[in-house]
Amino acid sequence: MKCPKCDCKEDKVVDSRLVKEGKAVRRRRECLNCQQRFTTYEEIIQSEISVIKRNKSRQEFERAKLRNGIKNACWKRPISDEKIDELVDKVTLSLEHDFDREVSSRVIGERTMSELKKFDEVAYVRFASVYRDFKDIERFIEEIRLLNKAEKE
Ligand SMILES: [Zn+2]
Repeated sequence: MKCPKCDCKEDKVVDSRLVKEGKAVRRRRECLNCQQRFTTYEEIIQSEISVIKRNKSRQEFERAKLRNGIKNACWKRPISDEKIDELVDKVTLSLEHDFDREVSSRVIGERTMSELKKFDEVAYVRFASVYRDFKDIERFIEEIRLLNKAEKE
């Protein structure tokens, strides 16, 4: 970072502390050229992906929303909060990796389902039933039948 006094780009960090409950770091720096001290502030930038919903409306991607959906699907399953966070991270990172600005809610749903499937079949079927909005019980049963089949193979 350029020194505000002499424009030199070389500095050293003389102090570093976590702020905002560890969500940001504040650094005191010293210019190697003129010894001017200045402070920098660093924090994670929230994801800026928009989600395009089935009705074509847009919405900011919210990690908390995804987490809620997964958490509901995991209700009373032997899945810890840490594990749920891990799953949310995995899906979020894969979305941020593959999409710059927008992603359809369908893709988010599919990716979440494929992660859940590896993880807990009951949670998977629950999530899928909400997500796919199964219109009839036959489709629901068909999904479970496919799961059982996959398990035996
Ligand atoms: Zn300087």
